[in-house]
Amino acid sequence: MSERPSYRPETLAVRAGQERSQFGEHSEALYLTSSFVFESAAQAAKRFSGEEEGNVYARFSNPTVTMFEQRLAALEGAEACVATASGMAAIMATVLAHLKQGDHIVASRSLFGATINLFSQIIARTGIATTFVSHTDPAEWAAAIRPETKLFFLETPSNPLTEIADIGALTAIAHAKGILVAVDNCFCTPILQKPLDLGVDLVIHSATKYIDGQGRVLGGAVCGRKQLTDEVFKFLRTAGPTLSAFNAWVLLKGLETLKLRVEAQAANSRQLALWLERHPKVARVFYPGLPSHPQHELAMRQQKSGGGIVAFEVHGGRDAAWTVVDHCQLLSITANLGDTKSMITHPASTTHGRITPEARAAAGISEGLLRIAVGLEAVEDLQADLERGLALIG
Ligand SMILES: *Cc1c(COP(=O)(O)O)cnc(C)c1O
Repeated sequence: MSERPSYRPETLAVRAGQERSQFGEHSEALYLTSSFVFESAAQAAKRFSGEEEGNVYARFSNPTVTMFEQRLAALEGAEACVATASGMAAIMATVLAHLKQGDHIVASRSLFGATINLFSQIIARTGIATTFVSHTDPAEWAAAIRPETKLFFLETPSNPLTEIADIGALTAIAHAKGILVAVDNCFCTPILQKPLDLGVDLVIHSATKYIDGQGRVLGGAVCGRKQLTDEVFKFLRTAGPTLSAFNAWVLLKGLETLKLRVEAQAANSRQLALWLERHPKVARVFYPGLPSHPQHELAMRQQKSGGGIVAFEVHGGRDAAWTVVDHCQLLSITANLGDTKSMITHPASTTHGRITPEARAAAGISEGLLRIAVGLEAVEDLQADLERGLALIG
C-alpha cells in the first residue's frame, strides 16, 4: 500500500506504508539493525552511489522508519516524509537543509520555547537571522520580509494561549515573494489540520506528542514535496539526528489510533472548557473551540475542532494557580502534552519561567494562567480533580 489511493484517514492510519517481509507478518516488523548486507560488491557500490534503491545503514534509512514515514506522509497528504530523532531535530534539519549563512527567517513570537532558543541562539550562530513577529497579525510578517528572507516558520494554535495563526494568509504573503513556509503541526496533527492543503511547503512534527500519544518515545518528522524533503534527508544522513527503528515502530503503531485519540481528546477538551468558562473562580478560558475565543471563526476554518489543549486563568494569581495544581490527584503535574493522561502546567513558573516578567506579561502569560493537555480520562473525573483546588481559592 505504498501508492497513494484515495483512502480515508481511518484507513490510512492503520494500513498506509506497511511493507511485509518474506515472513508475511501481519503487524509491522521492527527491524533492529544498524546496517544492511549486500549480495555482491557491485550491489554495495550501487547502493552507496544511489544507483540502486535500498537500505545501506540506519543513519540513512531503515524499513521500520520508512513505514512510519510513508504512513505519516499519507495522513498529511504529503508526497514524502523524513523522520527525525525528535521534533527539535526536525526543525533544525529543515532550517539547516534549506537555508545558509546570510539568509533570514520570519517566525512567530509565540513559538514553542525551544524553537525560539534554537533560532535565536543556535541557528543565529550560523549567520541565519530570525525576526520574531506577532502570531496573529499577517501585516507584521509582510513588513518583516527582507530580500534575504527564505522561510516563514509558524505553529498554530500557539502554546499555551491557543492563539491561531492564519495559515492561508501567511502562505499567500510568503509565496508572493518566493519564500518557503513551514508549519509545526504538532498541536493539531493531520487529523485536525492539514497545512499542505492550505498551500504550505513543509509540515513539521514533534511525534513525541500526539503521534506517540502515550508518552513513550521522542520522534519528529518533516513532510512535503519530495524535492524539499530530499534536502532534509541529505542533511540528516550526514548530520545524524535520524529516528531510531524502535521509536519509529512505537510511532507507527501510535498513528493507528491517532484519530480516535485526538477526536476523543478534543471532545473532552471542549466539555472541560465549557465547564471552566462557567466556573466562578475562573477569570478566562482560552480554547479555539469556544465561540468566546477571539479567533474562533478562523480556527474553525482551518482546524476540524478546537484540539486538546485548554488554558485558563484563575482569579488570585500565582497562589491560586498553584493551589489548583497542588490539589490535583489525577492530573499529572508535568509540562508535556499529547498523552492519554491529562497534564496540568503553570506556564509562568515552568515553560515560560526563564523569560523576564515583562516579556511574560507582553506574551499574555499571567501568573494565574494554567494549561491543561487533556487526555482520555472521563471529563467528570477531571472536573472533580480541578474542583478540589478551585473550591479553595479566594
Ligand atoms: C514538544 C514540541 C516540539 C519539540 O519536540 P521534541 O520532540 O520535544 O523535540 C516542537 N514544537 C512543539 C509545538 C512542541 O510541542
